[in-house]
Amino acid sequence: MGKIHELSAVLADQIAAGEVIENPAAVVKELVENSLDAGSHRIDIILEESGLATIQVIDDGSGIAVDDLALAFKRHATSKITGKKDLFRVQTLGFRGEALPSIASVADVIVESKTTAASAGAMIHLRGGEILVQEAAASRQGTQITVRDLFFNTPVRLKYLKSPNTELANITDIVNRLALGHPEVAFSLTHNGRSLLQTVGNGKLQQVLSAIYGVTTARQMIPVGRQDQDFQISGFVSLPKLTRASRNYISLLINGRYVKSHTLLRAVAAGYGSKLMVGRYPLAVLNIELDFQLVDVNVHPTKQEVRISKEEQLAQLIKAAIQASLASENLIPKALDNL
Ligand code: ADP
Ligand code: MG
Repeated sequence: MGKIHELSAVLADQIAAGEVIENPAAVVKELVENSLDAGSHRIDIILEESGLATIQVIDDGSGIAVDDLALAFKRHATSKITGKKDLFRVQTLGFRGEALPSIASVADVIVESKTTAASAGAMIHLRGGEILVQEAAASRQGTQITVRDLFFNTPVRLKYLKSPNTELANITDIVNRLALGHPEVAFSLTHNGRSLLQTVGNGKLQQVLSAIYGVTTARQMIPVGRQDQDFQISGFVSLPKLTRASRNYISLLINGRYVKSHTLLRAVAAGYGSKLMVGRYPLAVLNIELDFQLVDVNVHPTKQEVRISKEEQLAQLIKAAIQASLASENLIPKALDNL
């Protein structure tokens, strides 16, 4: 008799959860990305105890059909890609079909959802990957997901979480960045009944900047815009006098996806040249649009690392865009001096 056997689906999901669902912020990221993929105009995120007690995400998106509800929790089940050709031109934030099964394998999850076409909605309740209840529900249009008792069955994961304040800061950070990437969506983030963020969803990036950083800071940021045959950059960057001690206030979004890239972060700093003191960094949000075929998002399970063809060309374009904006800003005080 051989010794090899296939792992159970629940165990396989828990292993995947180890990669995709590292902390409460990762749950929030995956759920909000699903809401964005569903074309939501409004996304409300409600947390209790830094997300460890409850993470609830409510959207007004397309909803999940009754027949799809249980399937959404199966590994590698997705509505977003079908064939191999789709993998190399992914237009949605999700596509791996891993988030919901991973989350459900390490938490208590209730989903209520209704599509526009359906007259009634449905709900499903899972705990530790097992379906407990599935029934009809009087839901409103969209999806409401409630995640409780995160990591209740993976005590080691729980033990290695950071302090509640740090976990909450990580959630705020990712929600801020997703809101910056989607000014057309109204976001709200609430923690223990206190509002932490509220954007109006009017499509104006400056509104999101002032919701996150305050009006005074937002006023010290100037627009950036530039394009070449492959890339289109738009966003805001801070004037050189407005800096921070870390790079965390620079958000780069590629086709609406928040990504981490050392090369591109360096390009932002390069745009400022000697205007920045050593160890100081600007605030910036750059939304970069490019052909979906120029970016490979299937590099890492969390998809925050991506591979961009022509990355060096993009870095040069970012640098030039920022240089141009800062240079035009310099003209204004000079013009006033001449008055
Ligand atoms: P992926 O996003 O990679 O497809 P997920 O596990 O995150 O995988 O979600 C599985 C499927 O469940 C999605 O493909 C989508 O069809 C559906 N889904 C999840 N969340 C939502 C939502 N908020 N609104 C509509 N559909 C959703
Ligand atoms: Mg997803």
